[in-house]
Amino acid sequence: MIAPFQNEPLTDFSRPDLHRAQMEAIARVEASFGRSIPLRIGGQEKTTSDVILSLNPSNPSEVVAQVSKATPELAVEAVEAAHRAFGPWSRWEPAARARVLLRAAAILRRRRFEANALMILEAGKPWVEADADTAEAIDFLEFYAREAMRYGEPQPVTTMPGEEDNLYYIPCGVTVVIPPWNFPLAITTGMTSAALVAGNTVVLKPASPTPAIAWLLVEVLREAGLPDEVLNYCPGSGGSMGDALVAHPKTRIVAFTGSMAVGLHINELAAKAQPGQIWIKRVIAEMGGKDAILVADDADLEEAAVGVVSSAFGYQGQKCSACSRLIVMDQVHDALVDRVVDLARAITVGPPKDPAHRMGPVITDAAMATIQSYMEVGRSEGRLRTGGGRLDAPGYFLEPTIFDDVAPQARIAQEEIFGPVLACTRARDYDEALAIANGTVYGLTGAVYSRSRERLERARREFHVGNLYFNRKCTGAMVSAHPFGGFNLSGTDSKAGGRDYLLLFLQAKSVAERF
Ligand code: NAP
Ligand code: MG
Repeated sequence: MIAPFQNEPLTDFSRPDLHRAQMEAIARVEASFGRSIPLRIGGQEKTTSDVILSLNPSNPSEVVAQVSKATPELAVEAVEAAHRAFGPWSRWEPAARARVLLRAAAILRRRRFEANALMILEAGKPWVEADADTAEAIDFLEFYAREAMRYGEPQPVTTMPGEEDNLYYIPCGVTVVIPPWNFPLAITTGMTSAALVAGNTVVLKPASPTPAIAWLLVEVLREAGLPDEVLNYCPGSGGSMGDALVAHPKTRIVAFTGSMAVGLHINELAAKAQPGQIWIKRVIAEMGGKDAILVADDADLEEAAVGVVSSAFGYQGQKCSACSRLIVMDQVHDALVDRVVDLARAITVGPPKDPAHRMGPVITDAAMATIQSYMEVGRSEGRLRTGGGRLDAPGYFLEPTIFDDVAPQARIAQEEIFGPVLACTRARDYDEALAIANGTVYGLTGAVYSRSRERLERARREFHVGNLYFNRKCTGAMVSAHPFGGFNLSGTDSKAGGRDYLLLFLQAKSVAERF
């Protein structure tokens, strides 16, 4: 027996000992800057001469790690190695595989400050965001371990007279895991551990800005007793070797989280049966969002303003769940937007290694350039209320930026910017507000602030998003409480952290024996 699942508590950094432990871990990671990380294929480490330079976005002259970089040929080798390892791993008892995850969770708890420090330095996460990311990774390990045990139990079926009837959930095969950089530990751990605990073998291609954090996961799982060949670590440029992973005929599942454009490309490529392929590949694709918070005229405006600012600018707006559209009913529009602007102006921006900074850098120079180009578009599509600029510092620091009077069909109200840019729109009434909220190709998260039962119940039915929140922010989904996944072009609605998730990595086999 193991205890029922519980979410991992966050670290209380107001405790001096924990504050100090985090500072020391940051110093240790800084002391390791420049280290080399190899590929790991079929249990063998491989070093390539071409490397990914993982930079600190707060100071891009600092190289966090030099990471070997797979070519398409090495990607093929990794899928073939994972295919060879599948037979033995697939025959492990589900409970035995689950114990590997439980031990990995325990190890990650012990390495928590190190994991946080890596995310602070490699991904530019403020302390509390990094800590929440590690906690979520631990949650996924704990939750999917229990889920694997549940799916491993006898499943309820009707039994025919004179027969023994059973249904078993069995693994599928090689799973290619392709995470984004923005939850570099949580999402990487979630997709990888779900695939593994279900009995599949994995080729993990980490996002190029955050390969060192993914390597930490590989180390943790090895230390937890995962057989070496079962998890292949295969960093490389998605654009140059991703197709080799997805198209390989031995690839059975692709678990992807990232942008809509890449997700649609993967879905299309995976749909084409390759010579020698004997199955239809499964694609789990969780993609972007253009998430809205709707504030009704009967809302608690202070609560709403705080929730909007936290959802829009937490981790620099680089969350798929981030609030990038604020839709406010006419009567309270000016008061609410003024308050949001005031709160945004109070946000301190700077290197997140100093916990006084609430906002850190955006992830890369390319991301910064894209976001800045949207800031330019915003100047012609709306009224700039605050921000719009870059800090005079070497890191990729942008100001929290708010545009008001943005039309619902404006580009900055329709396209995912993935940075600290909020577009505000005025709605005549609640009907119009709901229509605007539903008026994009996405459908990931959303929130409504209102004290009206009738309005909330209407939104419960009509606000078409995978994760809907009332009178709270639209970020911060918790494993098991808020299974996560979007509608429409936000993805396949896989509901990570929920009871349906492991099913995506399993297939059901019915066996009937007549006596
Ligand atoms: P991205 O550019 O789509 O990249 C995601 C992953 O795909 C990376 O590992 C990337 O590798 C890889 N990739 C790129 N081209 C590929 C190809 N042709 N074949 C296979 N893999 C390929 O997204 P991102 O910038 O990392 O992450 C931000 C996006 O993720 C946003 O759109 C955000 O909304 C979304 N997101 C969604 C969720 C969700 O649950 N719905 C959660 C988090 C983030 P490289 O890094 O080497 O290019
Ligand atoms: Mg980096």
